[in-house]
Amino acid sequence: MRSLTLAEARERSSLLTVTSYAVDLDLDQGAEVFGSRTSVRFTCAHPGADSWVDLKARSVETVSLNGRPLDPADVADGRLPLRDLAADNELVVAATMAYSHDGQGLHRATDPADDRDYVYGHLFLDAAPSVYACFDQPDLKAPYDVTVRAPLDWIVLGNGAATQSGAGTWHLETTKPLATYFMTVCAGPYVSVRDEHDGVPLGVHARASLREPLERHAAELFDVTKRSFDYFHDLFGIRYPFGEYHQVFVPEFNAGAMENPGCVTFRDQYLYRGAATRDELLTRANTVSHEMSHMWFGDIVTMKWWDDLWLNESFAEYMSHRCLVDATDFTDAWVDSSIVRKVWGYGAERSPSTHPVAGVEALDAQSALQNFDGISYAKGAATLRQLIAYVGDDRFIAGVRAYLTDKSYGNGTLADFLAAIETASGKDLTAWSRAWLLTADRDTISVEVQEQGGVVGSAVVHRESPADRAADRPHAFDVAGWTDGREVARVRTTVSADETVLAELEGGPVPALLLPNASDLTWARVRLDDATVAGLREQLSQVPDEQARAVVWSALVDGVHGATVDPRDFLDVFDAAWPVETNSSILTRVASYAEHRVVPFFVPRAEQADALARLNRAGTALLERATPGTTESLAAARLVAGTSDDEALLQAWADGQGLPAGLEDDGDFRWIVVRNLASRGLVDAGDIDAFRAKDDTLQGGLNALMCRASLPDPEAKAWAWQQLTGQEGRSNYEMVHLARGFWAAPDDALVADYVPRYFTDVPAMSGWVGEDALSRVVLVAYPRVFTEETARLSADTIARDDLTPAVHRSLVDADAELREALASRAAFGAAV
Ligand SMILES: [Zn+2]
Repeated sequence: MRSLTLAEARERSSLLTVTSYAVDLDLDQGAEVFGSRTSVRFTCAHPGADSWVDLKARSVETVSLNGRPLDPADVADGRLPLRDLAADNELVVAATMAYSHDGQGLHRATDPADDRDYVYGHLFLDAAPSVYACFDQPDLKAPYDVTVRAPLDWIVLGNGAATQSGAGTWHLETTKPLATYFMTVCAGPYVSVRDEHDGVPLGVHARASLREPLERHAAELFDVTKRSFDYFHDLFGIRYPFGEYHQVFVPEFNAGAMENPGCVTFRDQYLYRGAATRDELLTRANTVSHEMSHMWFGDIVTMKWWDDLWLNESFAEYMSHRCLVDATDFTDAWVDSSIVRKVWGYGAERSPSTHPVAGVEALDAQSALQNFDGISYAKGAATLRQLIAYVGDDRFIAGVRAYLTDKSYGNGTLADFLAAIETASGKDLTAWSRAWLLTADRDTISVEVQEQGGVVGSAVVHRESPADRAADRPHAFDVAGWTDGREVARVRTTVSADETVLAELEGGPVPALLLPNASDLTWARVRLDDATVAGLREQLSQVPDEQARAVVWSALVDGVHGATVDPRDFLDVFDAAWPVETNSSILTRVASYAEHRVVPFFVPRAEQADALARLNRAGTALLERATPGTTESLAAARLVAGTSDDEALLQAWADGQGLPAGLEDDGDFRWIVVRNLASRGLVDAGDIDAFRAKDDTLQGGLNALMCRASLPDPEAKAWAWQQLTGQEGRSNYEMVHLARGFWAAPDDALVADYVPRYFTDVPAMSGWVGEDALSRVVLVAYPRVFTEETARLSADTIARDDLTPAVHRSLVDADAELREALASRAAFGAAV
């Protein structure tokens, strides 16, 4: 299917104004297809002109334009030509559509726990025409009237409040004007918990088999929902306008969540069925708040074209963290951002695919999707924090309010947004936005101290901008220093030159650890010199400031990837500082990063078993010391379960014997254990089936697939590869789990034959897997055989001209990580 181009979108929106959509969906036609009848009213600025409507149907039954029949056979490449338009038009399309299984369009999944089916619409970015006939671009907004026919035991939810008008027939209240990609319907035997706040009816919903975790988590979900409503009402000065507010936890969801007005969809792993760490709850609260902030920024005001999608996400990313810190108990949300979101964004910045935050002209809808990454979220949010430092918070908020009020129910652009901030602040943002928004890459910052007579003689902040992407970025941040846990220096500075003298530190004590960007206000590579890294073994665990510790860990991760920090030094700091870490986000993320990135990617193969044993010792020590049931205990237990080579312990845990307190009945924890056993060949396919039988759920089925793919024998690998790449009808989630297990191997020989196969078989999947889902599969399935030969095949494949945009982009990113691993091994491989 061709992707809508910017030129086409501009032309169509200058010609057409959409007045209303009436959509009737018949979801009672079995598991394969559904009926879709759309009546769209629209005006045309130049009567007599031609245009087209987007339509991706299994079959089209009838079409009429202004009462005149059109030939359904004229639909080509997802478009139906509309000729000789009148000033006022009504188009009626009756079609049969296919349910999807890749999370794009109207996704249908069967819950193995009870064999019941669930449907949800995820129409982002251009899947709307696979559900209803529409003018699918973000600046042709219109109100919706939706009716749904569904099996008698289903409930229906959508953008407008649902009422049942007859047996199996549901009507959704007419909506405010919405962009096409926000229309959604969730239908199935969902179970619900309802509440109300400040006049807004609230609901949370999930599959029937998730009733217990839904009910267990509902109070916390409603709490953050209510606090976020109060916070955003107060901050934006505009009341939430979309009626009821439903949050639906749906199966096999590609992203974290989607901000459909009135009916937000979430991945249902967020309803943690077992024990959850505090940072997992923080992440979920953050997602709840993030999606809600989109109701204003994205939904009330929508970007005019996809190239401003970053502004939606940067804004929501910033606002949700601000809301959590100001209005909930998750006051460490920015610490989480440093070690989760910004580590992700810095990874995107290191890849050759990096791009400016804004101003990358997306010539078509699908190419816009390729730039939707850690730059859009994490860097964008950091940039907004720098903008606030530059213009002042009051003026920033005044500008945001003006922008939202001015463009309500319409569309905005980056230029509109900046103009609103300029008006509110009286500051010219031309140079600022050129440096921060329109130039890719980041500066490197470091602090140099000269000692003089036992005190600081001079302290200078160095700012280096990348030679090939020069920019003059002003940075506002803190420099802070500690010695043996005592804060001995702190100064807020604005750096707007390549050297900035910190006169405030002169004459003071020389800190053992001196850290630029200590409060993590800016976006930059923090360079730690060798002496500082060496000192971290002693110093890091004593630093009382968790925000600063997160910045140090982030800099270490960056250094490992950039081959400036030996992965063994990372593990030394881990040994010293991780077991006494008190911040939940740092604790769980650093452990996971050490286990799943540092060891397999950067530690030479011959040293990996020893490195895992080190992690295991750290985990075991913490598990023995931690209070049962706490985040510390859970993080430690997960690390032990993933890294242990103690067969007796693993078998006992898998069988439910001697489990750490709080994990006695935790299916997800058991799968970590089983996966470890499987990858060591200590269980077989029959054992995995038996564990699956104990956990006959969607999650259990996915984990069983991952474990089977992890088995170290040629038959299991051949089976898994066929299931992954062979058009076996696997869902998006099943493919990702097969890929996740596949490369586990005691030595490369077992999987070496699949390296060349990856570079032919996986790109070919674009013939039957949607781009959004495939982009994830390409990354996860990328060969974990770190050789020059893999790099050569990778480069050859990237140079091909027949790759889809998503496949190309994911290959570039995976390739960049392979090259980082090879560079690190070349730099440090011989060291001991
Ligand atoms: Zn978002």
